[in-house]
Amino acid sequence: MRGILRRTALLTAVVALTAGTATAAERDKSPVKRPKVAVIGTGGTIAGVSESRVDFQDYQSGKIPVSELVGDLEPEVNGIADVSTVQFGNRGSGSYSIADFRELTLAVDNALRTNDAAVVTTGTDTMEEFAYWLDLTVRSDKPVVLTGAMRPWTVLGTDGPANLYNAIQLAASRKTTCFGSVIMLNDEIQAAREVRKTDALRMDTFNSGASGSLGVVDQDRVRINRAPARVEKCGRSSWRTPFDVGRIAEKDLPKVEIAYSYQGAGGEAVKAFADAGADGVVTAGTGAGGVSSSMSAARTDATKQGVVFASTTRTGNGAVYDKESGGAVVGAADLSPQKARILLLLSLAKTDDVPTIRSWFTTLGTAEFTKRG
Ligand code: ASP
Repeated sequence: MRGILRRTALLTAVVALTAGTATAAERDKSPVKRPKVAVIGTGGTIAGVSESRVDFQDYQSGKIPVSELVGDLEPEVNGIADVSTVQFGNRGSGSYSIADFRELTLAVDNALRTNDAAVVTTGTDTMEEFAYWLDLTVRSDKPVVLTGAMRPWTVLGTDGPANLYNAIQLAASRKTTCFGSVIMLNDEIQAAREVRKTDALRMDTFNSGASGSLGVVDQDRVRINRAPARVEKCGRSSWRTPFDVGRIAEKDLPKVEIAYSYQGAGGEAVKAFADAGADGVVTAGTGAGGVSSSMSAARTDATKQGVVFASTTRTGNGAVYDKESGGAVVGAADLSPQKARILLLLSLAKTDDVPTIRSWFTTLGTAEFTKRG
């Protein structure tokens, strides 16, 4: 049943939004204006340089300017889009702070004021966190596509150029309008909420688990066969989340940490986070959110200090469903620990009120299709 609902909603949104989309070859010949796509570079392996053409794994990331990456795609890229570039930064993904993320949101929204879509290049290590942050914070419903590479730009068989080209093609197709942020690597399109980096080295590292990918880019065919549930709200103000970072000052960004549970885990990490002034802590629990007795006791103490907890599973699949009786411990459903952290952080930037935070986790954090037929 859910499948039928999803397909129907997707079809309505996609058909309405992409009617008349031509193939890249047709666009090339057409006098019709090409979509304007801004490519915002932050660095990562895609902008990486190796000493030899076979240094697939030993290289310096974040070296080549994004304008040069796009320049290497010419002349072909000119057939699919009118591309401009913005160099936001040129670093490894792990070196960006949450304050930087806030600035990136503003840069993406700024680019979308004058462009039809945006592509953001990042390192793959924390690309899923970049993507979910942008998914929750960008105000524009225009396409935002993140891409990167598992091999630097300069080696034999690099995946960078094809990933960037396909990301621009996907953005230019505008088929993910109202989807929020998506990731495009290895020809596969993944939703920000569900996608994970699942392999440290392989090129097919990004995977959305049981939810599956959103679609594929097969040469000049952009094929979408699933949509994030928020497309139902397309065109409505409720499509936007409450997390308008333009109204959140950098100094008000809270501190939220992650504590991993395991056999006999101590309570020291949770206590240390609370003592260090953490506003929130996500537990990566065993099974459906379990934490050890010591960690549980430390959590209870920390909640008395006003720390809010989100409970997730370390298993990688399944959900920790919320219980109203959970007090300051909110179930984060099937959000991964790192994604639950982003949602808890944004929630705490807006309010300390646990029922409000709980309601955001059970709606925005767990978006489901509601329409029939
Ligand atoms: N260390 C890199 C980063 O995340 C890895 C990558 O780009 O794939 O920036």
